[in-house]
Amino acid sequence: MIGYNLDKLASLKFKVLGGIFLVFFLAIGLVLHSVLTYQRDKLIRMSSHNAMQTGRTIVAGLSASMLQNDREASMEIIENMINTANLSGISVLNEKGEVIMTSESSLVGVVMDVKTDDTCLSCHGISGAKRRYSAAMESEDKSYIRTIIAIENKPACYVCHAQEIKVVGKLLVDSSLDATNDLLKEITQRILLTSIFVFLLGVFLINFIVTRFFSKPLDTLQVGFEEISRGKFDYWVDVNCGGEISRMADSYNIMAKAISRYIDEVKAKSNEVSALYLIAQKMSLTIEKKKLKEIVVDLLCEVLEVDCVTLALPIEKQNKIFEITAKKSGDKRHYHSYFDVESDAPEGCSLSREDFLRWGDQDSTPLVFSADGAELFLSLQLKNMKIALVKAKKPAGESFSQHQKKIIPVLAHHMTISFANAQLYEMAITDELTALYTKRHFHKKIKLFEEEYLFNKKGFCLMMLDLDHFKETNDTHGHPVGDLVLAQIGKLLLANVRHGDIAFRYGGEEFVVLLKDGDQTEAGRIAERVRKSVEEFTFTIGDIPPFRKTTSIGLSCCPQHFSTGKEILEAADSALYKAKNRGRNQVVMYSSEQD
Ligand code: GH3
Ligand code: MG
Ligand code: MG
Repeated sequence: MIGYNLDKLASLKFKVLGGIFLVFFLAIGLVLHSVLTYQRDKLIRMSSHNAMQTGRTIVAGLSASMLQNDREASMEIIENMINTANLSGISVLNEKGEVIMTSESSLVGVVMDVKTDDTCLSCHGISGAKRRYSAAMESEDKSYIRTIIAIENKPACYVCHAQEIKVVGKLLVDSSLDATNDLLKEITQRILLTSIFVFLLGVFLINFIVTRFFSKPLDTLQVGFEEISRGKFDYWVDVNCGGEISRMADSYNIMAKAISRYIDEVKAKSNEVSALYLIAQKMSLTIEKKKLKEIVVDLLCEVLEVDCVTLALPIEKQNKIFEITAKKSGDKRHYHSYFDVESDAPEGCSLSREDFLRWGDQDSTPLVFSADGAELFLSLQLKNMKIALVKAKKPAGESFSQHQKKIIPVLAHHMTISFANAQLYEMAITDELTALYTKRHFHKKIKLFEEEYLFNKKGFCLMMLDLDHFKETNDTHGHPVGDLVLAQIGKLLLANVRHGDIAFRYGGEEFVVLLKDGDQTEAGRIAERVRKSVEEFTFTIGDIPPFRKTTSIGLSCCPQHFSTGKEILEAADSALYKAKNRGRNQVVMYSSEQD
C-alpha cells in the first residue's frame, strides 16, 4: 500500500503538478509581498506628507498665540488640531528639548534628548543615516508617524529669544498609522482571497490539462505496453489528445501491428519447419514400402488435417491393378487392398476409376485442388515415372489453408523420393521371378523374429518348402516353363499365408515362410493349405499338356522346438528332409525323434 502510494507520488503527473503548484505558490507569495510593501511605503509617504502640511499649519497657528505668550490659546489650537486633523499627538519642545506644550499632559516637562530618547534614537542613533523629518514609530500599543518641524527664530521672537539663535523650538506632530494599517490589512485579505481563488482555479485547470493531455494518454499507452509484454500483440490503444503523445500512440499501434504480423510469420515459419522436420523424420524411419505407405497416410492426415486419405501405388508389370492404402481421421487402422480398375473400388478407397484414367494421361498435372478447395489430387512422379497417386479430402465445410498448400509440394517431393528409394530397396530384396523376398532378406528378418522372441517372448514358426521332382519339369518342358511354375508357386504361397506372414524364395525351387506367431497347430494348418493349393493347381502353359506339381513342407516352431533362428531353420530343413523321405507331397512338423 505504501509502495503503491510512493509509486503514485513518483508519477509524472504528480511531479508536473507539484512543480507547477510550487512555482505558482511562490509567484503568488512574491506578488503579495511586493504589492503590500509598495502599498505600505506609499501610504506612509502620503501620511508623512500630510503630517508635514498639518505641522506647518500648526506652527503658523501657534506663532501668534506664542508671541502673545498665550498658553491657553496655544493649547486650544493644539486641541483643535488633534480633533480635526486626526492626529494622535502634538508636542512643542523648547530649544533645550523640553516639552513645554503637548496634547498628552504626562509629557509636559519631559526633556527629549536626541542621545537618550528612544524615539529620537530611531533616526539619530544610526550613524550616517540620512537626516529625516519624519519616521514611522512603533510602540507597544500604537504605530504612528512622527514629523518634526523646526520653529525658527524670527524677528518677532527676538523679544524673548536671543537673536543669534536660529531655532527656538521644535514641533512634534504624531499621525496615527492605525487607518493605514487597517487599509493594508484589508488589501492583504483581499489579495489573499483572490490568490486562493486563483490558486484553486489554477489547480483545477492545470490538473485537468495534465490529466487530459498527459497523464491519461500516458496511462493508456502504459496499459498497451503491459498488454504487449503479456503477448497480446493485437491490443490497440486509443489516444486522441493530439501532439507528441498521440503520435507516440500511433507509433505504438503501428509497432504492435508489425510485431503481431512478424510473430504470425514466425509462427507460420516455425510450423512449416516443424512440419518439414516431422516429414523428414517420419519418412526416414523406414525404407520398406509397406511401412512407408502407412507412415505417408498418417503424415498426410496429421499435417494436412484431412478427413480421409487414399494412397495408390502401381504394381510392377500390372497396368490396371494398384496397391491401396487408406485411412480415415480418428481411425487408427490402415485399410490395405488392391484396386483393379476394371472392377469396383475396394472399401475405404476414395479414388475412382476415372481418377486412375485421368492419372494415366501423359499431361496430367501433379497437383490439383477441387473447385471448392476441399479435395486434393496429388500425383507423385519422378521425371516421367508415376510413383503414386494421393487423394485427400478435408472435413465438410473446410478447405486447405495457404500454409498447407505451401507445404504440399515439399511433402510430395519427400514422398516421391521415399517411395522411389523404397522401390529400389524392394527390388534389392525381392526375387524378380517369384516376387517373393530374397534369401538375404530372410536372414535379416529371421534375426528380427529371433529378437522379438528374446525380448518380447513372441514366438514364430518357420515353414520350408521344396518342390517335388522339379528337375523333371525342367527336363520335360524346359527351363522357361520351370520358371513360370516357380512364379506361380510364389503367387500361391502369397495367397495362402496370412497378413503378417513373410514368404521368401530361399533357393532354386525352395521357399521359406516366417509365420508370425508360434502357434504350432495354426502353422500346420497353413502349411497344409499351401500344400493343397499347389497340389490342386493345374499349370496350363502354352500348348503343352496341363500338368500339376506337388511340394513337400517341413515345419518348426519357436520356442516349442528351438529358440534361435539358426536352430529353427535347421529344424525345418530336417522336417522337410523327412517329408521327402516319407514320400513327398506332405507336411512334417519337426520332431527330435529319429524315423
Ligand atoms: P526333389 O523332389 O528331391 O526335390 O527332386 P528335385 O528334382 O526337385 O531335386 P532338386 O531339388 O535337387 O532339384 C532342383 C532343381 O531345380 C534343379 C534345378 O534345375 C532346378 N532349378 C533351380 N533353380 C531354378 C530356376 O531358377 N529355374 C528353373 N527353371 N529351374 C531351377
Ligand atoms: Mg531342392
Ligand atoms: Mg525339389
